[in-house]
Amino acid sequence: MDLFDSNSSEHANLPRNMIENSMFEEEPDVVDLAKDSTAFPTFPALDPDEVTYEPRSSRLLVRGLGENDMDDDEEDCESSARLLGMSFMNRSSAHRSNSSPYTRQAPPRSCSRPSSRTIVVCVLFLVIVASMTMVLYFLPACTFTKAGCPKPNKTNPIEPVYPISTNGELFPWAQLRLPQSIKPLSYDLTLNPDLDKMTFTGRTVINMSILHSTNRIVFHGANLSITKATFMLGDGQASDVTVLEYKPRQQLAVNFSEELKAGQYCVLTMEYSANFSNTYDGFYNSSYIDKDGNKRVLAATQFEPLSARKAFPCFDEPAFKATFLIKISRKKTYMTLSNMPKAKSTNLSNGLVQDEFEKTSVNMSTYLVAFIVANFTSITKNVSGTQVSVYSVPEKIGHTEYALTITSKLLEFYNNFFDINYPLKKLDLVAIPDFLAGAMENWGLITFRETTLLVGNESSLLEKQVVASVIAHELAHQWFGNLVTMRWWNDLWLNEGFATYMEYMSLQEVSPDLETGNLFLSVRFRALDKDALSSSHAVSTDVNTTEQVEEMFDSVSYEKGASILLMLNASFPGDQQFRKGIIEYLKQFSGLNTDTDDLWNSLTQTDKPTHHMNVSQMMTSWTSQKGFPLVTVNLMGNQVTLTQEHFLLTSDNTTHTSSLWNIPVTYVNDSCSLAPECRQVFTLKNKSDTFKLSKNVTWLKLNYKSTGFYIVDYGKDGWSALTEALSKNVSVLTHEDRASLIHNIFALSRLGRVTFRQVLNLQKYFSLETETSPVMEALLQLNNIYRQLEKRQESNLASRMKNFIRGTFRDLIANQTWDKEENVSKQELRSALLEMACSLNDENCTHQATSLFKKYKDSNGTIRIPGDLQQTVFTVAGQSDETWDTLFNMYVHATYDSEKRKMLKGLASTQNPQRLVQILSSGLRGSLIQTQELPLIISTMCQSFAGCLFAWDFIQENWDRLIEKFPIGSFAIQTIIKSVTSQSSTQAQLNKVQAFFSGLKERGSQMRSVQEALETIKLNRDWMDRNLPTLRRWL
Ligand SMILES: [Zn+2]
Repeated sequence: MDLFDSNSSEHANLPRNMIENSMFEEEPDVVDLAKDSTAFPTFPALDPDEVTYEPRSSRLLVRGLGENDMDDDEEDCESSARLLGMSFMNRSSAHRSNSSPYTRQAPPRSCSRPSSRTIVVCVLFLVIVASMTMVLYFLPACTFTKAGCPKPNKTNPIEPVYPISTNGELFPWAQLRLPQSIKPLSYDLTLNPDLDKMTFTGRTVINMSILHSTNRIVFHGANLSITKATFMLGDGQASDVTVLEYKPRQQLAVNFSEELKAGQYCVLTMEYSANFSNTYDGFYNSSYIDKDGNKRVLAATQFEPLSARKAFPCFDEPAFKATFLIKISRKKTYMTLSNMPKAKSTNLSNGLVQDEFEKTSVNMSTYLVAFIVANFTSITKNVSGTQVSVYSVPEKIGHTEYALTITSKLLEFYNNFFDINYPLKKLDLVAIPDFLAGAMENWGLITFRETTLLVGNESSLLEKQVVASVIAHELAHQWFGNLVTMRWWNDLWLNEGFATYMEYMSLQEVSPDLETGNLFLSVRFRALDKDALSSSHAVSTDVNTTEQVEEMFDSVSYEKGASILLMLNASFPGDQQFRKGIIEYLKQFSGLNTDTDDLWNSLTQTDKPTHHMNVSQMMTSWTSQKGFPLVTVNLMGNQVTLTQEHFLLTSDNTTHTSSLWNIPVTYVNDSCSLAPECRQVFTLKNKSDTFKLSKNVTWLKLNYKSTGFYIVDYGKDGWSALTEALSKNVSVLTHEDRASLIHNIFALSRLGRVTFRQVLNLQKYFSLETETSPVMEALLQLNNIYRQLEKRQESNLASRMKNFIRGTFRDLIANQTWDKEENVSKQELRSALLEMACSLNDENCTHQATSLFKKYKDSNGTIRIPGDLQQTVFTVAGQSDETWDTLFNMYVHATYDSEKRKMLKGLASTQNPQRLVQILSSGLRGSLIQTQELPLIISTMCQSFAGCLFAWDFIQENWDRLIEKFPIGSFAIQTIIKSVTSQSSTQAQLNKVQAFFSGLKERGSQMRSVQEALETIKLNRDWMDRNLPTLRRWL
């Protein structure tokens, strides 16, 4: 008996509602935005798919048709689909993805036209046959027996409904999560990649322990063709076994006639073959052109979250930690890398070499395994006993030094900060030419995009900031994520929120010249913006489908996660309290898996003796509910009343939640507002609370330096008092506080809580502002309104808005130089201001940029454009047809990746329809422009009206190709959807977006980012409806 498995609470939930809902909806009339505008050519359809489908036989079901049929399994959808027969299939045929469970057939040849009488007779006949079939189908077989049908027995437990494996046998598992009866202990992996044929063979030996008696072993495997499998129990004889496969859940299983008993050990050995993945996950191939113009191929892995199973059969969930011994064969001209140092190399009889790596000295989750076959070169340094190396393609080795230097500093910092030494003997950082994510923290073998690892010594600090931040993030994961891992993807934030927080925190210590503070501040503002929508989710939230796993990689897990950690750290009295709790947590759970409560408990324990704050109680209110509070402050003499409510942007005004947060509200006042000592704290736990100040004050500023994750409304008088004070002396508040006032008032205007008139009153102050973060926040907010006006084709109002923005920052723009600038914060300010000025066609700006581009071109690249000005210069160059071609040529030949991406953004900012089409098609094909850059291209195009029409058209035409490259729900898809919709604000645009996405059905219609897009457009529409009259009067 296998009670343990059947008691498991996790139900397999493939996206049932997606399929079900879809079947009863009308196919929407998808309107093509770009085609509405006759001035533009239509987009060429790429690789048109054939259209008819047949159901995949492996998904037919064996089941007793009783009242249990309609439980939460995808099978129900399938049988419903079967009942609806052709109508369902035909619907699907309009759009399909390659991963669709239906295979293609050629369309029937056309024939002569039948008479109308024949048609009527045929239709009648078909209707009668179909009705009878359905009646027979719906009635259970027992209807026609003598005994009739038994009464349903409500007390019987629900029996699992098993699906059918590819070979026709019953597959012994019906859930997404694996059973807990078997625990893998170690893996021996042998891989034989063939980079010429783009295939590989492998042999996987899994040593396992049986925790609960069971008749089955269930694990993962995807796109692997298993050629041989043997099983051995204890010290017994190995014997052949059949491996069953259930493709929809990427699961494999072996059935046993005799029960495997708890406490026994066993070994499963499998040989298999597979193709390299042609997306960015699994064991995938990548290529680049070397300096002699030859194409060089390489193979690398990206397993997080669900793709280790594409390279070898395994228990692919983060809680199944094990050790790994890896062997890879290669040609003599290649080298291999894996998590551990190489133990030995052996010459094989076929002329290849087999590299064997040391067995991992730590237990690790499958998503952290990695291996690479390539011909990279490296530089190396010993840091406190760890061999640190940075690898790149040979041509770019000159750009690896900065990464090695900053990694060495960060490794020492973390070893010390966490009070636990990095546990492996080596740490490799590798720049992969074709890589979708920013980087991946594989234990001992961190992989990066070239942009996020390679930087020249002559590069600006702003460019180094990117590299340093990503390295700091990935290194933090070696502790947070690798050493201590979340139990399941619902707590992904334990990995990502922490690594994001540590990234900023560590760099402020290790390299203060990089000034990462401004970056972290703006990241917190964007996290608030996203979390204000009702489509947001709790930091720690249910994850029951593969799409939901992908969706967890979003700004709530990363940025809100980091923000609440900052808030917690800032609410402790000293700076060691937080660190102590973290060390405690890492030591207690080293090598294990945790959930959110484990972290709060560790932090509560260390806090008790000094502070008596219940961390667990406070932080649970931030991780278990979505959104954040709006704190309203009312000041009467020296009496302060604070009220909290959910800051929820909603277009129907009916949704109100009763959520309450445990908020460490900080505040400063007019007599002491700058130094950290001025800061006072009041914990607001209830809906409303009152406290007294020691004396009367003119104004209060809450959320000192914006370290808390909430927005503040000061009321009409409070806002006036603050504006007044700032207009007299900008420096009366810290620049973080000024930036947060700007962010908050725009957010309140979106909420409908303050009038836009009040927002504009603050302009009195921000035209005096010169500091980077407040200026950038104001620019971003105003630019967003300008772009929305442009996309509504309110051209008159848009150009008045343009003048207003230029006018507000005129002096500041005029003060910017075009020479080399050393200070990071000044570089940030300058690049934001000049990019904006040039995009608004400021003549002086475009003139300067054009002449700098000419100098750069004429010097054959020997004169370098300062890194922070490159984007402005390349974007201006992208506007004229003549310089666009030059820029494209430069792009194709540029080796330096961060410069290359800026060139690409310049190219994508063109308004020329042919060129827009050229870039998009080239990016989709992956020729000249890598497919990994499509999200960047689309987000750049969407800054302009014409570009966005094209991008939107492109996305609709090529949706299936896009989700083939970027999984549904992935961050790349989230970016694409957000870029193309976030500045829309009309009902017509809303209708079109809604029509397209609802037509996607199971191909992405239920994604959270789609809900977010629709909500955002509605909110934009409502804001415009409310404020257009004000804008017209006032601009
Ligand atoms: Zn991360």
